[in-house]
Amino acid sequence: MSTTSLPESFRAQMISMLGEAEGRSFLNSYDSSRTYGLRINTRKIKPGSPADNCIRQLFRLQPVPWCDSGYYYDKETRPGKHPYHAAGLYYIQEPSAMSAVELLAPEPGETVLDLAAAPGGKTTQIAMKMMGEGLLISNEIHPQRAKILAENVERCGAGNVVVTQAAPGELSARFPLAFDRIMLDAPCSGEGMFRKDPDAMAEWSPESVEMCAARQWDILHDAIKMLKPGGYLAYSTCTFNRLENEETISRLLECYPSMKLLAEKRIWPHLHKAEGHFIALLQRDPEDGNQREEKQRSHKQSHKLRKDNEQPDKSAKLALAAYMKWMQNDMAGMDNPFGGGIPLLFGESLYVLPASKSLPLSTYSFAGLKVPRAGLHLGEYKKGRFQPAHALAMVLSANDTSRTWTLKAGSDELSAYLHGDTLKVPENYHGWYIVAVECGGESFPLGWGKASNGQLKNHLPKGLRQPIF
Ligand code: SAM
Repeated sequence: MSTTSLPESFRAQMISMLGEAEGRSFLNSYDSSRTYGLRINTRKIKPGSPADNCIRQLFRLQPVPWCDSGYYYDKETRPGKHPYHAAGLYYIQEPSAMSAVELLAPEPGETVLDLAAAPGGKTTQIAMKMMGEGLLISNEIHPQRAKILAENVERCGAGNVVVTQAAPGELSARFPLAFDRIMLDAPCSGEGMFRKDPDAMAEWSPESVEMCAARQWDILHDAIKMLKPGGYLAYSTCTFNRLENEETISRLLECYPSMKLLAEKRIWPHLHKAEGHFIALLQRDPEDGNQREEKQRSHKQSHKLRKDNEQPDKSAKLALAAYMKWMQNDMAGMDNPFGGGIPLLFGESLYVLPASKSLPLSTYSFAGLKVPRAGLHLGEYKKGRFQPAHALAMVLSANDTSRTWTLKAGSDELSAYLHGDTLKVPENYHGWYIVAVECGGESFPLGWGKASNGQLKNHLPKGLRQPIF
């Protein structure tokens, strides 16, 4: 794209905002090509390990200054098409979008909400920082996008994530004062997307900016209702106008005296190697005592939930016992990712709901809500037998078990597995195997296969199978 294709009123807006000289320099950035970024999944790849080096060389990575796990890649290397992507070794993300979670700085063990989460860039980054400890609720209002979010969470092997599909008001009614940190990457007019996505430019107008600001304002009230006293809120957009950014934040500070602005940052395409982002970090006063009513509701709710948790579902307990036995027998030596959460059985599907210190959950916590992913899907419990789920393969460490069938990236066998074909294996193989891809001498899970009589039946979910190129 070029400067000349930009809407006239957008050009005028930016010149008026930045002044003639800087405004021109900003507008000229649309004549340069867009940037490409990925974030290495440090839950799977240790920084400095041979696998880390292998990925850096393969995709000619260069560091993103504001994110330790973030890199620019050479677009010719096409990391999104590589089997390492299917293994969740990295997440493709626009470099400036990596800055918001860095500022929010979630920690292991916390209770965190990502309120507008699809497709999952910020969620997978938050999950990585939480290192599997604590609870992350990732919400997306649109059903199709919520499904993609759940798939991306699964691919990246994030076990402690619940994906909900709700309007912000539905969540704030249920979880008042519940979260240590909230990420609100708000739906916006997308001025920072113009180089990447021409549709964003076609949809832009001064009216759409106003409409987005009104929607952001509504969502922010719900976000604040859910924040604990002392809790942190990161608000971000990929747009440049002040109305959706600084002006929204100053309105919020006026309306909520208990909220304090800790930092406000901008990433600009004419000053940084990125598409552009706005991020504000706010904190709710730890002594905020004006919320007595909310506190009482929250207390009542957690009391009720605790009572629910005291009576775990009997059939879920049976399914969990079957899973434990299966892990011991079939995956001997493997770290069990169950992690003391709450077992839940939906029909024949066994999930483990992540444990949270401050927000004890049970099936009732989500009654009436759409929950595309109720935590980690362990598997199916059918007629007293356990069958592992794809999500379970993605959180396991393939290096810890002899039940791993490792294939080389670029091999015909690996393409055949990703295509959904049956593979040949030694005659003495029997039972469930993690099918993995090799990277820097380590094995990384892609999915399951079940071996008998020298054949490995393919259990990669149908929706994840790929054509052979
Ligand atoms: N955080 C995501 C990431 O890093 O991958 C990107 C989120 S995107 C900027 C904003 C999301 O807000 C979209 O997925 C959109 O569907 C969702 N959204 C749209 N309208 C909404 C509303 N009224 N309330 C909450 N979310 C909404």
